[in-house]
Amino acid sequence: MIVAIVGGGPAGLLSAILLARKGFQVEIFDKGEWPIDKVCGEGLMPIGVNLLEKYDLLKFIDKNKARNFKGITYINNDGKRASGHFIGRSGKVIRRLALSQGLYDAAKLESNIKLNSKTEFLSYEENDFNVNLKVKTIEDQQVVSLSGFDYLIGADGLKSKVRSISDLQGQRFKIQPNRMGARVHVEMEPWDENVQVWWQDGIECYVAPSSNNCVEFNFGWDHDVIKPQRIPGKNLEEGLFSFFPNLREKALGFKRVSQMRSWGPLPHKALHLQKGRVALIGDAAFFYDQITGEGISLAFVQAEILAKTIKDWNTIEGRETFLYEIDKVANHYFQVTALAMFFTRHPKLRSLMIWLLGRSPELFSHLLHTNMGEYSLYKIPMKYILKGLFCPKKT
Ligand SMILES: Cc1cc2nc3c(=O)[nH]c(=O)nc-3n(C[C@H](O)[C@H](O)[C@H](O)COP(=O)(O)OP(=O)(O)OC[C@H]3O[C@@H](n4cnc5c(N)ncnc54)[C@H](O)[C@@H]3O)c2cc1C
Repeated sequence: MIVAIVGGGPAGLLSAILLARKGFQVEIFDKGEWPIDKVCGEGLMPIGVNLLEKYDLLKFIDKNKARNFKGITYINNDGKRASGHFIGRSGKVIRRLALSQGLYDAAKLESNIKLNSKTEFLSYEENDFNVNLKVKTIEDQQVVSLSGFDYLIGADGLKSKVRSISDLQGQRFKIQPNRMGARVHVEMEPWDENVQVWWQDGIECYVAPSSNNCVEFNFGWDHDVIKPQRIPGKNLEEGLFSFFPNLREKALGFKRVSQMRSWGPLPHKALHLQKGRVALIGDAAFFYDQITGEGISLAFVQAEILAKTIKDWNTIEGRETFLYEIDKVANHYFQVTALAMFFTRHPKLRSLMIWLLGRSPELFSHLLHTNMGEYSLYKIPMKYILKGLFCPKKT
């Protein structure tokens, strides 16, 4: 079986590696050149780290460009603070270029993967037997027709062309459709073993310890409410930091390792994830928001589901298994992200939530594992809530 994958981000590269290891022929196309950068908070949840370990891929990641983190700390604009730790393991912040390089190096070792960089996907056509593609080589602008693929996987990110030219295209969410993200890397020593989330009304800053000498400041905001790039006399970076004077002070005078870059609007969900010989995974399939720091882990989980089920996609049951497994993953993600998004727009309830989490770290940990699909949002142990409400916080 020959599989074409459009997009060599985390979803596409891991899919290619896992498919190749199962004996499939894979051809992967990316318009960029590996290692490929992207606006991203770079925090890999423990579930994503586990998958890298499971497939022996952690060894490909440059240790100097990654750092473990133990959990999440919320810092609200009214001074309330809460920290929750992952239970039994750590997450890992991995510089995006290092993640891309590591997965690319691993993919190169698989003899049945053909990697095409600087090759833009243009279109496809499908018949009863296979899928044919048109791609354009970026350097010489040649349009090339390629035929004979059994399946086409769209792993081409948020603004997926595979999705938009197929009838898999969906709608953007009506709630907070204009969420944006931006990031900058600063050469400085991290000051927390957690990823910090600083909340202001309509905007958050995620502070990720990227390595021992690099901190990533990553912003998420609601473009309907806040327009940081339009603040007179300020560029995007100054505009974003102006909402977080404490962080602006901290980062002042340190060298920028990357330029501030923004990306969005973020939320969307494809109408269908699979039809005929075409399927979508990763951000191409769905993305709600960065607020739960889950996108890469989700992309990995979907890659694993794809590699496990594709051999049976010629049957209705096989395709349904794929869709069912992806749906399960998507559901928990949408639930927890919707909850977090609710708090971005309701400052009083957010303050109450952070107060509660601050008094009950167990509740916070439970939510972190709910976010990874390991615990249920509907099965929060009552004792954690009671502890938050009634037990005095230990100092
Ligand atoms: C601001 C922000 C912060 C985030 N923070 C986190 C975080 O902390 N943790 C986390 O896990 N996730 C985070 N995410 C989400 C994460 O970045 C994505 O979920 C993840 O990158 C999805 O991987 P992907 O492979 O599906 O898509 P992408 O990484 O977007 O890769 C898609 C690839 O497709 C290629 N491509 C696109 N179109 C074409 C074409 N026509 N032809 C050929 N190639 C094409 C692109 O060049 C790209 O390499 C964040 C996202 C944003 C926007």
